Amino acid sequence: MTPQLLRIGDDIVAIHAIVTDEGVTLIDAGLSGDLGALRTALAGAGRSFADIRGVVLTHGDADHIGIAERLRADHGVPVHILAEDVELATGAAPARSVKADAWRLGPALRFLWVGLRRGGLRTRHPRSVRTIADGDVLDLPGRPEIIAIPGHTRGSAAIRVPAVGALFLGDAITTRHVLTGEAGARLAPFSDDPQMTRRSLEHLRALPESRIFPGHGPEFAGTAADLLNALDSRA
Ligand SMILES: [Zn+2]
Repeated sequence: MTPQLLRIGDDIVAIHAIVTDEGVTLIDAGLSGDLGALRTALAGAGRSFADIRGVVLTHGDADHIGIAERLRADHGVPVHILAEDVELATGAAPARSVKADAWRLGPALRFLWVGLRRGGLRTRHPRSVRTIADGDVLDLPGRPEIIAIPGHTRGSAAIRVPAVGALFLGDAITTRHVLTGEAGARLAPFSDDPQMTRRSLEHLRALPESRIFPGHGPEFAGTAADLLNALDSRA
């Protein structure tokens, strides 16, 4: 079958699943209450948790690791992350302290409500992870390619999956500001170093994939070059 891309969750927090004949790769692990939604989505594609070959994390923040430990502990699914974010993901380092940007009450409360409802406030860190590196092509369904894009966190990764024509950028960018609700592509809030992110994204400029998925917000329909133009026209 042609590899398929499933999106589990919504524009607030989403998990993406690459479904191929070899099994399933997950990009990010959402919130800890997302197991049921994932089970339902996989069943719709004729798959189950037993078909998941690996989770690849775009970075180690709590709203991206939700069900990773359950899948690892209960189903033997390996969890992959860049070395620089291992301590953040496993809880060996404290969660990052974030500076509040321009908060607007409605969207901010909606984000917190989604977090509460889907268990996001009960962080369960993966107890062990597999360390990956810039340039790795992982032996997982869809052959995800890892491109380091430090900035949001030190260990942030872009994950390129040519099999489905998609590029996953985690929280390097957002297309819907989680706190203000504003639409449009921009560098994500709560970043360690947004200017470093902008420089990192240059490494993606020549990639042909034309579907870009941020950690939060709807898909950006365009290539990395289109995205960079959109970011610069906003700056
Ligand atoms: Zn996030």
